[in-house]
Amino acid sequence: MKKHNFYAGPSIMPQYTKEKVIEAIRDFAGTGLSIMEVSHRSKEFVAVMESAVNHVKELLDVPDGYSVIFLGGGASLQFAMLPMNLMEKKSTYLNTGEWAGKAIKEAKLFGEVVEVASSKESNFNYIPKGYTVPSDADYFHITTNNTIYGTELKEDPDVSIPLVADMSSDIFSRPVDVSKYSLIYGGAQKNLAPAGVTFIIIKDSVLGRVTRPIPTMLNYKTHIDKESMFNTPPVMVVFAALKTLEWLKQKGGLSAMHKINKEKAALLYDEIERNKLFKATVPDHNDRSLMNACFVMSESYTELEKDFADFAKSKGMIGIAGHRSVGGFRASLYNALPIESVIALVDCMKEFENKY
Ligand SMILES: *Cc1c(COP(=O)(O)O)cnc(C)c1O
Repeated sequence: MKKHNFYAGPSIMPQYTKEKVIEAIRDFAGTGLSIMEVSHRSKEFVAVMESAVNHVKELLDVPDGYSVIFLGGGASLQFAMLPMNLMEKKSTYLNTGEWAGKAIKEAKLFGEVVEVASSKESNFNYIPKGYTVPSDADYFHITTNNTIYGTELKEDPDVSIPLVADMSSDIFSRPVDVSKYSLIYGGAQKNLAPAGVTFIIIKDSVLGRVTRPIPTMLNYKTHIDKESMFNTPPVMVVFAALKTLEWLKQKGGLSAMHKINKEKAALLYDEIERNKLFKATVPDHNDRSLMNACFVMSESYTELEKDFADFAKSKGMIGIAGHRSVGGFRASLYNALPIESVIALVDCMKEFENKY
């Protein structure tokens, strides 16, 4: 039976990426060696790293004066690395969920943290609005897509201090005005590559403003100067990232991707609205994530949750269980998920409804 992969991360990857990785595991760039066993200093791999950086710059239209680097440690390491490198005394955060909370916790190790707004009181089911950001802080941090709660901040906010974003789960899903940001980071394992690499897009001029000593490996400058080759990068994962970036270009880039992502999300959210058995967890349509659609059984049908989970599984739906802090269901609709999978899920919801 066909499997439909709705996992939140690691998650579905383009067929193109998987095929190219398999080829490169056998014979990488005509070297007769596997991508797993070549030096990261070989000219073939250096070309992969350069091309990956250039593809990120091209797809996101990254302006001059920014660097793109690939590091280890996941988005979670960035929660600490960011304040260590950018915050002298004070930073500001928008608290939109568990990942934002983890970022706030780490920043507190380095100075004063102001939470400008939070949606915690309603289990993060909306994006706070109408807040003011103090102008005397070193940066303002947002999480553009809240993977667990299914909310997404779809417009780049205008602020007077450097803007920083965790874009782990919506990077490359839509165009972004990078010039509004001082730093963008994220783990690769949602929309880019297998787990093992973190992308960082950083405005060079925000560096060098803090007085604390920074360990070499945790200093952005180290990795910018060494073009992500200060130490051994995860060679195979960077290769996979490059293949996904090539695939994105073939698909027409981020505007084309955004259009398809909106269609996919609309299909599913429309069915959640229409179907008497289900209810979206995020009430405001504007706040609903295009990447992670969260829904629960509606009030009179809560006892059917397990039955639907089993039914969906029998129809090949994989990874639709909601995160434990929300419950219900979460369908992740990343770039690589074909619209056919969304149609299959919608059909499955309709078929289940017909039984009641
Ligand atoms: C998955 C995720 C993270 C954590 O990423 P790791 O690479 O596992 O550290 C952080 N932020 C967001 C928004 C995520 O979706």
